[in-house]
Amino acid sequence: MLVDRFGRVITYIRVSVTDRCNLRCLYCMPEEGMPWFAGPDLLNFDEIARVLAVGARLGLRKIRITGGEPLVRPGVPELAARLAALPGVTALAMTTNGVLLAPHVEELYRAGVCSLNISLDTLQPARFMQMTRRDLFARVWEGIEKAAGLPFPKVKINVVLARGVNDDEILDFARLTRTHAFEVRFIEPMPFGPTAAWQEGRVVPAAEILDRIAREEEIAELDIPQDTRGPARLYRLRGARGMVGLISPVSREFCQLCNRIRLTADGKLRGCLMADGELDFRAALRNGAGEPEIEGLFLEAMARKPERHYINEEDFVVPGRGMSQIGG
Ligand code: SAM
Ligand code: SF4
Repeated sequence: MLVDRFGRVITYIRVSVTDRCNLRCLYCMPEEGMPWFAGPDLLNFDEIARVLAVGARLGLRKIRITGGEPLVRPGVPELAARLAALPGVTALAMTTNGVLLAPHVEELYRAGVCSLNISLDTLQPARFMQMTRRDLFARVWEGIEKAAGLPFPKVKINVVLARGVNDDEILDFARLTRTHAFEVRFIEPMPFGPTAAWQEGRVVPAAEILDRIAREEEIAELDIPQDTRGPARLYRLRGARGMVGLISPVSREFCQLCNRIRLTADGKLRGCLMADGELDFRAALRNGAGEPEIEGLFLEAMARKPERHYINEEDFVVPGRGMSQIGG
């Protein structure tokens, strides 16, 4: 079992397979993109599978494939099938911006992806263009509808909600749960290297989101255990098929419930999204590390995992990597 210094049992790993992306969301990447990792810097699929096989033996149960945009890396559906088949792994998830979902979603379903998070911050094509700097709303929507037609156990729509940018769409997104059995989750923008200034003053607190929905719709909190719902608090509009989730990492810290670690595309293991202390699995693998050494690195990560993030404190240091270089 992987247990950190604070008694938290770590069962969940997010694995970034690329830092590249086909969108340029304002809160994530600058227009010109980022200094991309070179191809050989990325863990190859055998390396990823080796690391995760050891992790699964130590107690990791859930894997989420993310990026950058994971579907821009060729072969990711095959990687998904490999990871889903690892002994001990009980849940394989993916986070995607949906641009390449339509051509791949059936293969992802067949590969064993059981939970699909699709990021979509607006239902308005013109605003999508402003927020992502790419005119690709129709392709994303096609992917979403295609996913809705497949029997995925969970489809979530991740909405980064920013005051003055898309907060006038809170109700439209909440009402989407009437027609679609999705969990629509509102996420607070967080400060990361290249775009840290963008999020200042943009967080809409969870209580305000709820209040704005409740003024127009009947909405009730669902009593779902934390180990099933993760860090989101879940609500349902009366008569809706889907749910509304509120995720408030900034205003309502959930670090004490944290059960996750992250492997970056260039093979560094991060104990916390917001802290830069990293362990270099790639160097270890390429220096001939065997299973005991890989296991030792996982245990070292447990010893180093910080207790919480310090976003709201004066001496908080913005992470050196952007969200796309970590894997959200
Ligand atoms: N490209 C994929 C996508 O957008 O779904 C996967 C990677 S992306 C980094 C993962 C998630 O992080 C997305 O839901 C995105 O909206 C979110 N994200 C990116 N930058 C963020 C920020 N500064 N604050 C909060 N969420 C952010
Ligand atoms: Fe790309 Fe996802 Fe970042 Fe948007 S949030 S730029 S889709 S990595």
